[in-house]
Amino acid sequence: MLLRPKMQIKKITDITVEILKDNNIKALILDSDNTLITLDKEPLEGIKEWINKIKQSGIKICIASNSIKHKKVEKVAKYLEIPYTYFSIKPTKLGLKRAKKILQVENNENIAEIGDQLFTDVLGANRMKMFSILTEPISEEKVKLNNLKRKLEKKILKKQAKK
Ligand SMILES: [Mg+2]
Repeated sequence: MLLRPKMQIKKITDITVEILKDNNIKALILDSDNTLITLDKEPLEGIKEWINKIKQSGIKICIASNSIKHKKVEKVAKYLEIPYTYFSIKPTKLGLKRAKKILQVENNENIAEIGDQLFTDVLGANRMKMFSILTEPISEEKVKLNNLKRKLEKKILKKQAKK
């Protein structure tokens, strides 16, 4: 079930250190667009505080964005004071492997990948046998292609919920 997220939440800040520790998570790989920042590049409310709490718990963090805009991803990473990689090409393993190298965590099952898209974040994480966490996108989609993709995502998630 490569398209089934291990966990589904509303927004990333809903995840607690306890939830992560209960699932043996030692490191996080975070999507950026619509997970940490809105499409207007505004950071999610409370995200800085949440990141600091995770850091204090000893859990490592790295951004792996699919964006090809280096400066944009760098700006988010600098604001949150965490390492990053961009142009990750999720759901391929490329960027996730790069992020894993930065995190220096040996076992993939100890890494959670958190993002808002089934076909990039969840699929990529599951292919890597990482712990996949799906959030709802934090801002409304403006692109038509994405809307189509969202509809398909909803359909799949609904089907999975029935099982
Ligand atoms: Mg995203």
